Amino acid sequence: MPDFGGLFKDTPEFLLTWLPLIFFGLIVYLLWRTLQLMPRIKPSSIEPNSATSVTWNDVAGVNEAKEELQEVVDFIRHPKRFERLGARVPKGILLYGPPGTGKTLLAKAVASESGAAFYSQSASAFVEMFAGLGASRIRRLFAEARKSAPAIVFIDELDAVGAARTGHGFNREQDQTLNQLLVELDGFSDRDQVVVMGASNRLQDLDPALLRPGRFDRQVHVSPPDVAGREQILGVHTRGKPLAADVDLTWVARQTAGLTGADLANIANEAAIFAGRSERQYITTADFDAAIERVVTGLQQRRHVSEKEKRILAYHEAGHAVMSYLMGDVMPVHKATIVSRGQALGYTLNLPGEDRYLHTKEELVDMMKVFLAGRAAEFVVFGRVTNGAANDLERVTTLARSMVFEYGMSEGAASRTMRADNYALSEESKKLRDLEQARLTDEAYREAVRLLQKHRATLDRVAHALLEKETLVREELEALLGEVGQESHAAETVGTPRALPLAD
Ligand code: ADP
Ligand code: MG
Ligand code: ZN
Repeated sequence: MPDFGGLFKDTPEFLLTWLPLIFFGLIVYLLWRTLQLMPRIKPSSIEPNSATSVTWNDVAGVNEAKEELQEVVDFIRHPKRFERLGARVPKGILLYGPPGTGKTLLAKAVASESGAAFYSQSASAFVEMFAGLGASRIRRLFAEARKSAPAIVFIDELDAVGAARTGHGFNREQDQTLNQLLVELDGFSDRDQVVVMGASNRLQDLDPALLRPGRFDRQVHVSPPDVAGREQILGVHTRGKPLAADVDLTWVARQTAGLTGADLANIANEAAIFAGRSERQYITTADFDAAIERVVTGLQQRRHVSEKEKRILAYHEAGHAVMSYLMGDVMPVHKATIVSRGQALGYTLNLPGEDRYLHTKEELVDMMKVFLAGRAAEFVVFGRVTNGAANDLERVTTLARSMVFEYGMSEGAASRTMRADNYALSEESKKLRDLEQARLTDEAYREAVRLLQKHRATLDRVAHALLEKETLVREELEALLGEVGQESHAAETVGTPRALPLAD
């Protein structure tokens, strides 16, 4: 063997022989791995997704969207009927609404109800592709769909390519992909029998070019379900699950204002899990109760809380509870607890009895008092406040801001919306609105302090009960609060903005 100036003098000979071989082997292996990844890069065949088994029966609580989409189903099934009349069904349909409301589900249902070939592709997948591939994939997707018409091309998460181009983080790649999508949307004729469906969380964020006539020109809003819708969705997701006789889905629906179909599916599943863990044959109301809590507030997570902290927490939550009774029906309290769950240390669960969308100014002010009552109670009892109210304060700020800037509820500006993005609004006007917003919040806080001082005995009673039992449900609270007079403005109520959140 060669003498490398004695460099490898001590190296065993077999290493010198094998090392280059091992090295070579490694390179071969890496090359092979690269080739393995190639199929993703080289054109892979595009085939329709296997027919989905989702039917209209699996989608509930979104009747308006279903009705609109039924038209598409009819069009695909009986094209002649429409052609004879000279009718043109839009070829681009955009489903938009918050995540978990059932957009993907609806698209699948349209495909299987109409018997069309279903080509589904998530736009976020395009974005991940290498140079130019997103665009070429779109081209081929449409080409294939045309060949096997009638067909539905479904592009999920359209925001990923269709986000307005002004947004930061938008690169050329996405631009190419978006352009190709526009070309395809423009390129097919009425006789193609291809319907393009897209899904997006927010309409405002989409590139306006996508929404022009002839493209995604029909927009179907998929909104979170109302109480009746929630009951129907729960019906879908408890189908085939053994429910105990005491389970009332109407009640469950009423407890879940603001939740989406996906959340409700989650609750139905969690309830079954709770029942299973307790080795029950049937899912009971208690299981649903536990499932709601878990889904609404995150997984139970006990945290260590010192005695002193516990006292503060108890008064904080008692403050919320007492105030919500004082305010009447605006934010009925469902439960108060100092057992920590998820993020919040303790919480008072305010659930509206029904979905309401309209509120008087007085009611909104009352809500602010309920949100601020946690901090007010800390102040009344301990003379100082903690950081435990951060979340409450955020809610109050948002509410007050909306009142002044959007609902025209500030003094002397009852007829104008003062939205922050209203450029016509002068700096001076904005300053005035800001002051008005602060005035509303401060007044609500002072009033909350005053009321809690006045009802100090009740506050003490509830706080002590909380320290003792940690959790008080509605009936227990009612018993403790019974004699507290209802000082609500009892203004004519027209209807709670949905989803009264948890006050922590
Ligand atoms: P999105 O696409 O709007 O984010 P998905 O369609 O992916 O929502 O919904 C996720 C899951 O939640 C569905 O698979 C279904 O189990 C459930 N779900 C959502 N909305 C509904 C609904 N309206 N009816 C029945 N189930 C629903
Ligand atoms: Mg989806
Ligand atoms: Zn609070």
